[in-house]
Amino acid sequence: MAAEPGRASSWEPPPDWQEGPRVSGPYTFMRIPPGRHLKAGDVAIIGVPFDAGTTYRPGARFGPRALRTASAHLRPYPRQESGLFPPFDRLHILDYGDVDVIPYDLSETMTRIEQALTPLCEAGVFPLILGGDHSITLPVLRALAAKHGSLALVHFDAHPDYWEPPLGRLHYHGSTFRFAAREGLIDLDRSVQVGIRGTLSSAVVAQAEADGFHVITGDAFAKLGVEETLGRIQARARGLAYVSLDIDCVDPAFAPGTGTPEVAGLTSREIVALVRGLGDLSLAGFDLVEVAPEYDPAEITAILGANLVYEFLCTLAHSRRDALYNQGAET
Ligand code: MN
Ligand code: MN
Repeated sequence: MAAEPGRASSWEPPPDWQEGPRVSGPYTFMRIPPGRHLKAGDVAIIGVPFDAGTTYRPGARFGPRALRTASAHLRPYPRQESGLFPPFDRLHILDYGDVDVIPYDLSETMTRIEQALTPLCEAGVFPLILGGDHSITLPVLRALAAKHGSLALVHFDAHPDYWEPPLGRLHYHGSTFRFAAREGLIDLDRSVQVGIRGTLSSAVVAQAEADGFHVITGDAFAKLGVEETLGRIQARARGLAYVSLDIDCVDPAFAPGTGTPEVAGLTSREIVALVRGLGDLSLAGFDLVEVAPEYDPAEITAILGANLVYEFLCTLAHSRRDALYNQGAET
């Protein structure tokens, strides 16, 4: 995709459901107008329909499409109980479309993702990524770190994604944060993982902790609860922070549509509360990955994923509550 940051265009928030029926309109996130004219402070929703980095069930290449479809039922107001701001009052949000991936070429696709993101990051646009499997986070971090330097990471996942890659040392969705740490894209002393569990060798978790990650396992989260976990995240993720949300952090009862499900995970209520509690961080980017609609009866996972993206937009608006931001202003 050709990047065209740096210029604002006329912009409208998504239509109210009473003005335009939610089953109509463009197939963008929440029916937000598609567009690529962006300036500093804008939010670009970008799909990365790629899953050649998976090791078990493929299908996350259809994640962006499923998330956009499921998002159509969302109304452009914050959840009443959240106390957050309506994001469209404060943020200029565009659906940027998808990165032109090559479905069978991971290496070239990583390059293309980074090339697509780089001009946006340089222009100060906030990237909000719809995956895709978790391998796609690495080039996003490369583009962001080139602009901002090493980032704090808040990582929700059943898996640490910190494996040393086998099979020729090729990058895959289980090695994302190993590479990111090695390349200095993330600062593990300012990073935290939440929800880690399942039939893992303890060596990979021990390595992550030895290298500096604060790991909150699924069982540890169950004991700590949402508020204590948020306190630890806020104490940890100082400076600019990237949030990476693998939907498999959530229990398969609430998110069956994913490639590597692990039982005994977070509830949908818990992950919503965690995302809603990130508004005091300095947020640099966000992704939601690993939604695989082939395994998703009744859009259970896609609806949760679309809601989590929207909750994050509300949280981002909250995090910028003190910023003087002229929505849609020409530059
Ligand atoms: Mn992952
Ligand atoms: Mn995972």
